[in-house]
This record gives sequence, structure tokens and C-alpha cells, in this order.
Amino acid sequence: MDFELTDAQRILVETIRDFCAKEVIPVAGEYDRKEEFPWPIVRRLGELGLLGILVPPEYGGAGLDYISYVLVLEELGRADGSLTLTVESHNSLAANHILLFGTEAQKRKYLPRLARGEALGAWALTEPGSGSDAAAMQATAVRKGGSYVLSGTKNFITQGSVAGIYVVMAKTGPAKEHHGISAFILEKGMRGLTSGKKERKLGLRASDTAQVILESVEVPAENLLGQEGEAFRDVLAVLDGGRIGLAAMAVGLGRGALDESVAYAKQRVQFGKPIAEHQAIQFKLADMATEIDAARLLTWQAAAAMDRGERVTKLASMAKLFAAEVGMRAATAAVQIHGGYGYLADYPVERYFRDVKLCEIGEGTSEIQRLIIAREILGREFA
Ligand SMILES: Cc1cc2nc3c(=O)[nH]c(=O)nc-3n(C[C@H](O)[C@H](O)[C@H](O)COP(=O)(O)OP(=O)(O)OC[C@H]3O[C@@H](n4cnc5c(N)ncnc54)[C@H](O)[C@@H]3O)c2cc1C
Repeated sequence: MDFELTDAQRILVETIRDFCAKEVIPVAGEYDRKEEFPWPIVRRLGELGLLGILVPPEYGGAGLDYISYVLVLEELGRADGSLTLTVESHNSLAANHILLFGTEAQKRKYLPRLARGEALGAWALTEPGSGSDAAAMQATAVRKGGSYVLSGTKNFITQGSVAGIYVVMAKTGPAKEHHGISAFILEKGMRGLTSGKKERKLGLRASDTAQVILESVEVPAENLLGQEGEAFRDVLAVLDGGRIGLAAMAVGLGRGALDESVAYAKQRVQFGKPIAEHQAIQFKLADMATEIDAARLLTWQAAAAMDRGERVTKLASMAKLFAAEVGMRAATAAVQIHGGYGYLADYPVERYFRDVKLCEIGEGTSEIQRLIIAREILGREFA
């Protein structure tokens, strides 16, 4: 088994690390404080090819493998959770859904715009009344001649108010064992497609989260994404990839919490010596480092299986579950190591602590990941 990165992957990591050090870390706290979407940085993401990471070159993307993708997300996560969620949801959910299940014409029309960053992607599954039980959605799409008419409300949508291209799930028939749900590609400017209020959040405050409101939006039938009535199966496949991305984000945030804690522990003096010399602090750092490495290995294992084209449902859920909880534990320990200063917005660990919580909730909560893993190991008849 080979854990070595290729030269190209090492250069990629160095490039992103350098970009983050120079252009992201210096402003991340300020965008978070102002709860402002960082458009200038998002434009730079497009220039760097980070908005089409998985999209093959023939559709204008970088065409990188999944290992490279999680390396990018970890580096971004180390710097700024908000920006990482933007990159993750755009690539893993919106662009990847079109890449995996779009027709050739849809891929040619939409992927280059997404990959170049001319339009950000949003992926709209959740509704006010259906989160974990996504199949219980109420949004409808009714066929009318050469179009579908979409009505409903989507909740918590990342890039909900800033996207140019939306992948939206809606019911095209009576829900029966996850059949009856279809996916559609919508474009900003379509009549009846608007965004609701921008949500104010515990963390990831520079990431855009908003309701997406569909009021009789007429969508050409050619924008049906995948087979009518069979989108739920596609959604689950898209989420498998997404969960590996969120795992990488959590590893990055956990690493940020560790790096900041190591630096702080070496310079903060109490009882006449740096707190790094107190064993209670050393043990916290040791646990953080060990768990973060284990979470990274699980994330890489899932990404490598993805690159081999294997079914990754169990591995993706295990990586997301474990990395999210490790990230949360690391951020909690980091605040504790910083003492009262960890509670202040002046130190980045306060932001990591708020940001990483989303990794235990988004794209399926930790409870739902445990259900999926249990179903995978027991079989459907038991779980
Ligand atoms: C910042 C942010 C960004 C998001 N971005 C997007 C996006 O881009 N697109 C999108 O479609 N959605 C998005 N979401 C929605 C997210 O995926 C949901 O919030 C998540 O799936 C949980 O759904 P819910 O909030 O409705 O919680 P609920 O499903 O109501 O769950 C509430 C609690 O009950 C638990 N629970 C539910 N069912 C079970 C069960 N069977 N067994 C045990 N426990 C259970 C849950 O684990 C949780 O603890 C985002 C959410 C946030 C906060």
C-alpha cells in the first residue's frame, strides 16, 4: 500500500497552501465577521481551476482525481471553512451531479461555465419539512408540453442567493420507495426562481446559505437531469462523493485547530513555563494529532476507492462521520488550550470551533451516517 503523493499532487498542495497563506488566511476572519460572501477570492478560485476540479478538460475543468480533490479541500479547510464549503458544494454536488448524470448536451452547456467560475453551482435537496428524510420532499415538477413547472421551497441551500446554475430535486410522481423524484437544471433569471432570506449562522458565516423559492418555474424538458422519477438514486451517489469532501474539510479544520494550538502552547506562559510543558496540554495535542491523522487516512481510503470506481457508500459515511467528530473534538480542545483567549473572536480557533460543527450536520447528520454504516454492515433486513 502506497501513501506517497505523486509529484503533481505535492505541487498542487504547495500551490493551494501558498494561495491560502497569501490570499485567504489574511482576510478569512474579516469576511466571517462581516458575514460577507468573498467574491474577489471566489473569482481567484476560478482562475486557479478550483471550481472545476473533477470536471474533465473536455468540459473546461482540471480533471483531477478524487485524492487530489480531498487534498485541495483539506488545505482550504485549514485556512477557511466558509470558502471550503463553497468549493465543496459547487464541485461535489452541483457540478458532479451534472457530470455523473447529465446528457452530453447538458455537460457541454453547463460544465464549462461552472468550471471557469462564470456561474456558481447550488444543489437543492433539503426543504423546510424534509432534511434527513429527503425523500419526503414536497416540491413538485409537473409536465406541461415541452416543459416542467416547478413549485416549492428549498431550505439551507449553499450558494442559494449567489448561484447562476441550480440543480433542483422535485417530485414528478407519487413517492414510492424513493421513486418519483426527478432532478432539473435551473438557471438564474428563470421566471419564478428567487432566493429567500440569507440565513444567519453559528459558523461558516462567509458562505452563502439561503432558501430557494420556486413559484411555477417553467423549465424546458431538456433540463431534466437523469431519468424522470429516478433522481433519488443519483442523489445518493452524489452524496457519497460529497461526504468524502466534507470529511476532508473537517480534517483541514481540525488541522488548523491543532496548528494554532501548538503555536499558542509554545508561547503562552503560566506557572513559570510555557503551557506546552504541562502534560495535560501535551496529551490534548497528542490526541488531536493522532485522531486527525486517522481521519485523513479514512478520507484518503474513501477517495482512493472512489478513484478506482468502487461503490463507496460505507467508506464515505465512515470518513464523514469520523472526520467530522474528530474535527469537532480538535476544535473544542483548541479553544480549551487557548483558555479565555480561545473564546475571543481575535483568535482563529473560535471560528474553527463554530465552522466545524456543520460537518456533523450537512450532507447527512452523524446520526444518519451511523444508520447508513449500520445498514451497510448488517444488511437492509436488520437496519
Ligand atoms: C450551513 C448549511 C448548509 C447546507 N447546504 C445544503 C445544500 O447546499 N443543499 C441542501 O439540499 N441541503 C443543505 N443543507 C441541509 C442539510 O443537509 C440538513 O440540514 C441536514 O441533512 C439535516 O436535516 P435537517 O436540518 O432538516 O434536520 P432533521 O432531519 O430534522 O434532523 C434533526 C435531528 O434528528 C436526527 N434524526 C433525523 N432522523 C433520524 C433518524 N431516522 N434516526 C436518528 N436520528 C434522526 C438528526 O440526526 C438530527 O439530529 C445545509 C445545512 C446547513 C446548516
